[in-house]
Amino acid sequence: MPEECLFCRIVNKAVETRFLYEDDTYVVFKDINPAAPVHLLLVPRVHIRSINDLLPDHESLVGGLFSLAAKMAKEQGVDKSGYKLLFNVERGGGQMVFHLHLHLMGGWQR
Ligand code: AMP
Ligand code: ZN
Repeated sequence: MPEECLFCRIVNKAVETRFLYEDDTYVVFKDINPAAPVHLLLVPRVHIRSINDLLPDHESLVGGLFSLAAKMAKEQGVDKSGYKLLFNVERGGGQMVFHLHLHLMGGWQR
């Protein structure tokens, strides 16, 4: 685990963060600077830098992120109203934390 990686530190509870969901593979927590009324980060426990660094072995891990997103959206009550799922990839794509994560954003009144 890269010592300096914020999300590794969150996953390993070195930085205290309330998890809305956790299992052996993923953790989910609220974005500290939300861009939507509901803004969650879905984070695999394993350190992968970005989408660019996925290996064939990671396919089920990434597939599972989408299933988890649908489950969290339902739990947050935004499944029917709708939501966005987003991966920022590298600096030009807006990535600031270089540990793979899926943004789940929703809850707008429109
Ligand atoms: P990205 O720009 O895709 O790398 O997204 C990183 C996200 O992590 C940003 O939306 C930040 O607001 C969020 N973030 C940074 N630090 C924390 C933290 N300690 N707890 C929760 N979210 C964080
Ligand atoms: Zn990490």
